[in-house]
Amino acid sequence: MPQPEPSEKSLLRMQKFVANYCEKSGTVTHPDPEVTEAVVKGLASNADVLGKPLCPCRFYPDKQEEIKYRTWICACDDMQIYKYCHCLLFVTPEGQPITEYLPEDHEGRRIYGVIEDPTPDKGRPLRDKAAEREIERRRRPS
Ligand code: SF4
Repeated sequence: MPQPEPSEKSLLRMQKFVANYCEKSGTVTHPDPEVTEAVVKGLASNADVLGKPLCPCRFYPDKQEEIKYRTWICACDDMQIYKYCHCLLFVTPEGQPITEYLPEDHEGRRIYGVIEDPTPDKGRPLRDKAAEREIERRRRPS
């Protein structure tokens, strides 16, 4: 089902969040502005409908159930732990997702191989939660 158009207010809020988070995490938005626009719109639309900017690039059997967890609320656990954005919203200047910190069997590593972090001094504020995230990834694949 297509997502509803977001409100102007949510769109502006998400655009601001994305600009700030890029700065904080040492990433940039995708070089193709259409990619960024689509993801930002999806996040803003989810913020309107669900009250939280749930990641728009995944399938959830029940979105209301999913927002009880913080796993896929932007910036999601994979971003805050591994600096990996599977939506390609927060990427390297070449438009690649950072994968170097991911576990070897993570989908990101399987798809993209190892892509190094050009700004290792920034981001990953929840890096010490990797063990917990791995337990969750196995118990509750989403
Ligand atoms: S993958 Fe994570 S960081 Fe990237 S847009 Fe989705 S929720 Fe945000």
